[in-house]
Amino acid sequence: MRKSLISVIIPCYNEAENIPTLIRRINKALRNYHYEVILVNDGSTDNTLLELELASQGNEQIKYLSLSRNFGHQTALKAGIDYARGDCLVTIDADLQKPPEHIPAMITLWQKGYDIVTATCENQGQSTLFKKWSSRVYYRVLSWLADHPVISQGADFRLIDRKVADIIRRIQSQNLYLRGIFSWMGFSQTTYVYCEEKRHAGKTKYGLGKMLSLASNGITSFSIKPLRLALALGVFFAFLAFGYGIYAIVAVFIGKTVQGWASLIASVVFLSGIQLIVLGVIGEYVGKIYRELNQRPLYLISKSNLSDPVEDNTINQKLKQERRPVMT
Ligand code: UDP
Ligand code: MG
Repeated sequence: MRKSLISVIIPCYNEAENIPTLIRRINKALRNYHYEVILVNDGSTDNTLLELELASQGNEQIKYLSLSRNFGHQTALKAGIDYARGDCLVTIDADLQKPPEHIPAMITLWQKGYDIVTATCENQGQSTLFKKWSSRVYYRVLSWLADHPVISQGADFRLIDRKVADIIRRIQSQNLYLRGIFSWMGFSQTTYVYCEEKRHAGKTKYGLGKMLSLASNGITSFSIKPLRLALALGVFFAFLAFGYGIYAIVAVFIGKTVQGWASLIASVVFLSGIQLIVLGVIGEYVGKIYRELNQRPLYLISKSNLSDPVEDNTINQKLKQERRPVMT
C-alpha cells in the first residue's frame, strides 16, 4: 500500500533565525513518515528567503514559496494549501511556539478517521496576559456572532484531510478567514490539546493593530449579525428620540422650556456617535463587497522551487496565468 504523504505548511514572516531549528525538529519528528514541508515566505524583509533556499538545497522534502510581498498570515497559509500535495496537510507556525513534535499524534487522529484536527493550547503559557484575555473574549463574541462555534485558542495549528484542502483551494475570497471557515465546514472534527512553548527567536508579528484587523475580518467575514445589531440599535434610538420629542412638546405646554441646552447637546452628540458607528459597520461590509468585485488574485509568487498546484481548476487557471510571468 502507498504510504500517505503528509504536507506541513509553514507561513514565515521575518523568521530567519527560526528556520534551521524548525527544519531540524520537523525532520526529526516526522522521520518515520513520508512528508513534504512547504515554507511560505510572506514578504519577509530579513534573510528568511535565503534560509529557505539553503534549507531546500539537497533536500527534496523541503519546498518553498516566496510571495511577492507581505500578504498576511491567513493568505500565506492559503498559498501553502494550494500547492500542497499531501493526503493530509498540517499547518503550523514558524516560531516553534507550537512544537512540531505533536504532529504524529495529530496524524494518528486523522488515521482514526477525523477530517479536521485542531490543536488547542491549554496554557497559552507564553502569551501576555492581555493576549490571553483578549483572545478569550474575542472567540466568545465570534462564536456568538458566527452561528458556528469557533474553537477558542484554536489558532492555526491544524491538520486537515485532502478533501478539506481541496475545498479551501476552491475558495478565492479576498476576505479569507481560515479559522472561521473550518468551523463552518462541518465534517468530522476533533481537537488535540498541547502545551505551547516560548517563541524560539524573534518577536510576534501580531501587534495590537494586526490583531484588531484579524478580529474584525473574522467577525465580518462570517456574520451579518453586526448589521442586524446596527438596525436594532437604530430602531431603539428612534423610539427613544420619539419619546423625548413627546416629552419636549409636553414641556412646552406646562411651561418648562428653560435651560434645555446641556441635555440637548448631550443627546445630539450621543446620537451622532451611534450613527457614525452604524455607518462604519455598514462601510466595513461595503468595502468587503468592493474587494470581492475586484477579483484580484489572492497572492502573487515571486520565487519558488515548487511546480504548479496539484491539479487545475478554472479558478486556479486564472491565478496561474497571472503567476507565470513573474515566476523565476
Ligand atoms: N506570519 C505571516 N505573515 C504575517 C504575520 C505572521 O506569515 O503577516 C507568520 C509568522 O511568521 C508565524 C505565524 O504567522 O509563523 C504566526 O505569527 P506570530 O508568531 O507572529 O503570531 P503569534 O504567535 O504571536 O500570535
Ligand atoms: Mg507565534
